[in-house]
Amino acid sequence: MTINYDLHTHSTASDGAYTPTELVQQAARSGIDALALTDHDTTSGLKEAMAAGSESGIQVIAGLEISVSWNKKTIHLIGLNIDPEATALQKGIEGLQEIRADRAIEMGRRLEKAGIPGIYQAAKDLAGSGMVTRTHFAHALAGLGLAVDVRDVFKRYLTPGKPGYVNTTWAEMGEAINWIKSAGGVTVLAHPQRYNLTGSWLRRLVLEFRDEGGLGLEVLSGVASPGEVQSSTEYAKRYELLASCGSDFHSPQYQWPKLGRMPRLPESLTPIWTAWGATP
Ligand code: AMP
Ligand code: MN
Ligand code: MN
Ligand code: MN
Repeated sequence: MTINYDLHTHSTASDGAYTPTELVQQAARSGIDALALTDHDTTSGLKEAMAAGSESGIQVIAGLEISVSWNKKTIHLIGLNIDPEATALQKGIEGLQEIRADRAIEMGRRLEKAGIPGIYQAAKDLAGSGMVTRTHFAHALAGLGLAVDVRDVFKRYLTPGKPGYVNTTWAEMGEAINWIKSAGGVTVLAHPQRYNLTGSWLRRLVLEFRDEGGLGLEVLSGVASPGEVQSSTEYAKRYELLASCGSDFHSPQYQWPKLGRMPRLPESLTPIWTAWGATP
């Protein structure tokens, strides 16, 4: 029997719509056998997700998505099969959590200056006890009817050069990979085609990622087109990286990605789960 893996998803611990329990239950219903919860810069949903996994009879893999700054660009790394309690990892992401909290205040300040008051509090309320992300700001702004949808809000307010954008220095790539390694996990470069990099920049990124100890490339991402999957497949082969697949599911409110709809990884690639001893 082939195991249906989804190794990149979000819950209310960061910018997902489902609680960890709801996410695991929905994943089980959607035919996923092994699910990684990978919230932005936090492991706080993992305990609940693991418990829900035992209840629902699916395997839950402990993970997270770490924000990294590389050559002034924000890059996302997925840590998989981690020990969430590991000290160096927890210390590291605590730093990122502070950066997130400060950034949120600054985003609110700038939006207020742009004539939109009260957004910090609204975003913070939406985030509850979880990480405050741009997604929460986007929902708060969309709620004011300032844009047609969340995508449009990002374009108008939350991307470089726009009023709510705050340039942020996250973790260093090698540092984040070491946190994951010291927590017994493996690191995957998330959605490689989403950084708008030229071929030569993407090559540099992949090489540096591998040199710093990165093991896998997210070849199948819920947000990648067939052409992008093809390109990532070539990169994984050429640079001998293991292949990961993750929907990057956030919410049933979005048309795409949906849970349980990932195609299989190309046969020619070695799946990332072999790194923790699971059968190919
Ligand atoms: P942050 O890490 O707080 O900067 O937020 C990044 C998150 O915003 C990503 O993980 C996505 O979930 C979301 N995001 C980024 N760009 C867009 C976009 N154009 N449309 C919808 N969501 C987006
Ligand atoms: Mn997100
Ligand atoms: Mn991401
Ligand atoms: Mn993600």
